Amino acid sequence: MKQLRTPIVSVLGHVDHGKTTLLDKIRRTRVTAKEAGGITQHIGATEIPIDLIKQICKDIWNVKVTIPGLLFIDTPGHKAFTNLRRRGGALADLAILIVDVNEGFKPQTEEAVSILRTFKTPFVVAANKIDRIPGWQSSEYAPFLKSWAQQDDFTKQKLENKIYELIGDLYRFGFSADRFDRIKDFTRTVAIVPISAITGEGIPELLMILVGLAQKYLEENLRLQVEGKAKGTILEVKEEKGLGITCDVILYDGTLKVGDTIAIAGKDDVIVTHVKGILKPRPAKEMRVESKFQSVKSVTAAAGVKLVAPNLEGVLAGSEFEAVESEEDIKNFRERVKKEYEEISIQTDEE
Ligand code: GDP
Repeated sequence: MKQLRTPIVSVLGHVDHGKTTLLDKIRRTRVTAKEAGGITQHIGATEIPIDLIKQICKDIWNVKVTIPGLLFIDTPGHKAFTNLRRRGGALADLAILIVDVNEGFKPQTEEAVSILRTFKTPFVVAANKIDRIPGWQSSEYAPFLKSWAQQDDFTKQKLENKIYELIGDLYRFGFSADRFDRIKDFTRTVAIVPISAITGEGIPELLMILVGLAQKYLEENLRLQVEGKAKGTILEVKEEKGLGITCDVILYDGTLKVGDTIAIAGKDDVIVTHVKGILKPRPAKEMRVESKFQSVKSVTAAAGVKLVAPNLEGVLAGSEFEAVESEEDIKNFRERVKKEYEEISIQTDEE
């Protein structure tokens, strides 16, 4: 079997509905699951290895695993998500749409659903802040269904009503949705997982459904393999002391090595340069070392890294890049990028 790469997951939702808290909670779980493989910090992303996910989900785990973990990208907003494109799709393979279950859909939730629909990104709805449902009895990190079984009927009904409102809102956007435990086919119905990003309730189911979806949707998709040409997206272009202008990138395909020649889609034309250095954040325990970064010789998708290369001045955030070996490769890249950007602008205009 071919090695599958780590799927990229983005979290979208209305401001204050809990994006940051959810990612922090997933990261902090490391404390309660020390023996599992550690969380890896990337540039602009966090990797949660599959062993840790399994451990968080240990009471309910029932899927066969083919992916190495999940890479959560820290997209600060919807604009970043739409700018972070690759091959005519969104950079993320999957998304979590987070909604404060007490407030329901808000303008940015609607915007997020439209974006996900445009890019055909499979997503799971995290109906957050269930601990605020009147009468809710919380249990730290419990699977949702375990917590649910402990609630009284009045509280259950309150949550059910909120979930039905979400189902109605999603229906307006053309999605059929239901609470996850009532779904048979996760590729046809959008799963709603009630969670609390504060107590951790429901996070086991949320992660397990993401893993299941990632595997189901993406296993046969070539995009998910680590072989072949390195391809990625520029997250940010910034000056680093002693290094000059560098690019923070998400590598979504292939393996990138120091010395590789890469073509980057610039504003007006393609920029061709070569990779002088690939930097990763240093593990927290090595923080006393002078530099925040450690240099590596190569990196395999999916990963967030900092690239050191000459001629990065004209590079824009959101641009794509690809490893190239010949003039022919550069020509093909230029044509592909041009065509896809045209398609995207047509799609976005239609929204
Ligand atoms: P973001 O803007 O989507 O990143 O939202 P934040 O993660 O910053 O959360 C906004 C506020 O909601 C913060 O005060 C959080 O502590 C709070 N919050 C987030 N998730 C929950 C939750 O599950 N339960 C409760 N009670 N509060 C939450």
